[in-house]
Amino acid sequence: MRKKDYYSILGVSRDATLEEIKKAYRRLALKYHPDRCQGDKEAEEKFKEITEAYSVLSDPRKRAEYDVRGATETINIGDIFEVFSTFFDTDFLRTQEGSYASDLRYILELDFEEALFGTTKELEFERLEVCNDCGGKGIESDSDAKVCTYCKGNGRIEVVRGFFYFSQSCPKCGGKGKFYKKCRKCRGRGRVVVERKLQVDIPAGVDSGTRLILEGEGEGGLYGRRGNLYVEINVRPHEKFVRKGYDIYSELEVELPFLVLGCETEVETVWGKKKVTIPPSTQPGSKVVIEGAGVEHGGRRGNHILIVKVRVPTMRELSEEEVELLGKLAELARKRSNNSGFFSRIKRRLFK
Ligand SMILES: [Zn+2]
Ligand SMILES: [Zn+2]
Repeated sequence: MRKKDYYSILGVSRDATLEEIKKAYRRLALKYHPDRCQGDKEAEEKFKEITEAYSVLSDPRKRAEYDVRGATETINIGDIFEVFSTFFDTDFLRTQEGSYASDLRYILELDFEEALFGTTKELEFERLEVCNDCGGKGIESDSDAKVCTYCKGNGRIEVVRGFFYFSQSCPKCGGKGKFYKKCRKCRGRGRVVVERKLQVDIPAGVDSGTRLILEGEGEGGLYGRRGNLYVEINVRPHEKFVRKGYDIYSELEVELPFLVLGCETEVETVWGKKKVTIPPSTQPGSKVVIEGAGVEHGGRRGNHILIVKVRVPTMRELSEEEVELLGKLAELARKRSNNSGFFSRIKRRLFK
């Protein structure tokens, strides 16, 4: 029989502890497991090889025998998968899936007003929860387990080597004496995906980037703890209003005569219509502040800030009288600015 170096197959030293051997096997089995490497013949061979190495080195008697004789009883492939189903059911898949309670992230889109004034939202999401049927163990109940016929449930078998009888761990059931069926509901994973609906009160004043923490609403772990749910707010932009911190900005278009002479007007804010005064000689781009019409926070409110723009009416909108008066106004402005050359040059270029 060709000697295989089981130690180098698992990448462990000859004096490796059982823990080290288990660890090495778990790492390699994760990498080469047929479920992960479907159709990859080389990986399948590798899996069989590391599984064989593990099943020998994890059994103290087989390992001792192997160390002395450099060989052990032949293990066929059918056995390997059976031996391994035990390890697989209880440890392997759960390691693969990640059995710890993990946090979830939920992006919640809100309208501008919903973010300002607060609202109640129903969140719908999927999360992993510990399987009710098996309590997270991943296996059917003990009474459903099939007794191993090879060792008759003892977990150990006697083998003859020359003149000696050896008692060794059963290679078929891995010493457990039984074959546990994977839990039908969770397929051995210990957790199942569950739909969750949750009513959440969104407080007033949240903004894009605000993160609400709902403790214990994340995924259930196999070790009792539950992860958290992080709700991240994303506020949809408003047609007219832009929010910066606790202040709200909007544009106010005003025609020239009102900017020059000053006026009173009404503007929309999130708190309804408000009167504002545009002082005489207001320049485009200047700001008019309406105090206390911004975002409410901790019993106070930010401001609403108007950015003044000039509204230029088109010729079509204007009455004959307005055009006539604008003409007079232009004439007077030309005289005042004493810069007739500049205006006539522009006019020539535009109308030639
Ligand atoms: Zn057995
Ligand atoms: Zn289950």
